[in-house]
Amino acid sequence: MAEEAKFKCLRCGHEYTDTYTPGVPQERTCPKCTSNSVRRMKEK
Ligand SMILES: [Zn+2]
Repeated sequence: MAEEAKFKCLRCGHEYTDTYTPGVPQERTCPKCTSNSVRRMKEK
């Protein structure tokens, strides 16, 4: 079951919301610069 979370690109600083599935590692790329240095931002 997918959840929404905020992600931030460490390379260009772009922040965006995407879905992720807990427990399932996923390779992410920044939609702006295509870097894979994307981290999920803590919420709540
Ligand atoms: Zn980026």
